[in-house]
Amino acid sequence: MTKLDIKSLEFDELEKYVVDELKQPKFRAKQIFDWLHKKRVSSFEDMKNIPQSLINELNDKCFITNLIIKNKLISRIDGTVKYLYMLPDGEYVESVLMKYKHGNSICVSSQVGCKMGCEFCASTKAGFVRNLSSSEILEQIYQTERDLDLKISNIVLMGIGEPLDNYKNVISFLRLINSPLGANISLRNISLSTCGLVDRINDLAKLKLGITLSVSLHASDDEIRDKIMPVNHRYKIRQLLDACKNYTDMTSRRISFEYALIEGENDSKEDAVKLASILKGQLCHVNLIPVNKVKETNFRQSSKKSIIDFQNELIKRGINTTVRRTLGADISAACGQLRRDNIK
Ligand code: SAH
Repeated sequence: MTKLDIKSLEFDELEKYVVDELKQPKFRAKQIFDWLHKKRVSSFEDMKNIPQSLINELNDKCFITNLIIKNKLISRIDGTVKYLYMLPDGEYVESVLMKYKHGNSICVSSQVGCKMGCEFCASTKAGFVRNLSSSEILEQIYQTERDLDLKISNIVLMGIGEPLDNYKNVISFLRLINSPLGANISLRNISLSTCGLVDRINDLAKLKLGITLSVSLHASDDEIRDKIMPVNHRYKIRQLLDACKNYTDMTSRRISFEYALIEGENDSKEDAVKLASILKGQLCHVNLIPVNKVKETNFRQSSKKSIIDFQNELIKRGINTTVRRTLGADISAACGQLRRDNIK
């Protein structure tokens, strides 16, 4: 019998399980949820107000997801901390903790590896293994808070994997992390980044969750995007921008577009002009990211001057634009540098 991943259950699911399957009163669900998501114990034995008979039954039927810190690197430049976490089945993912003036932010992974194949990204180079469960996404936050003895206030789903390709578990994770009975992190403080799975963006819009949607655009026309992001063969830029417009209409939230500047590929003045023109009328913000080094690729960062020129060109045309600060570059913790196979 496969055991139930109890930490992945949302509160109402746990309540149903406790009543229907375990034949226990409802209040037990609240107690168990509290042990899992507030006190965050790693075994059923630690649940002090649960009778031994129920602990035995829980041990027989369920398991508690715990991640193990396999490696931890601290940036000498900015104090960013990168974790290599081992999952219960021995797979690995990375997470990154960034300290800002406004609070602590964590970048979490949603899949072991990635199928999306973006040319410039390290996370996809060793292929795709599996989706993370919602408890495995949660645990990256719980373990990091415990290890560093701090509170995390902001979350970005920008680590390894395509979160919208693991839609169900990611939505469940969002509900769990937002639960007042658990970590109670506001959805407003959470950003989800996608390479542009249009159908899923439309599904997400319907939920009106209040999270920030980041869209990895990286090109201003299909010719360039086709070359660097295989997902563009499935959904063209026009379709993607229509979905973004729909997301804004449904949620009143502005979209954050990510644009990695790659020398000679997408960083000319003409690219900036085209980008401003396709984003016209879209409530948005553009994050320019000087492309980070990934050993399997030859992409080079645009020069400082090209980056500033590109930014100015967008601002001149009324597009809100900032250049993203690179954090953790000395520990390969920057955008696009996370891997599932860093242990080797
Ligand atoms: N799959 C999702 C989540 C990953 S988020 C997505 O594609 O959005 C990681 C962000 O870093 C994405 O915007 C991704 O396109 C970007 N990125 C990937 N490789 C990069 C690199 N080498 N330099 C800068 N940004 C990169």
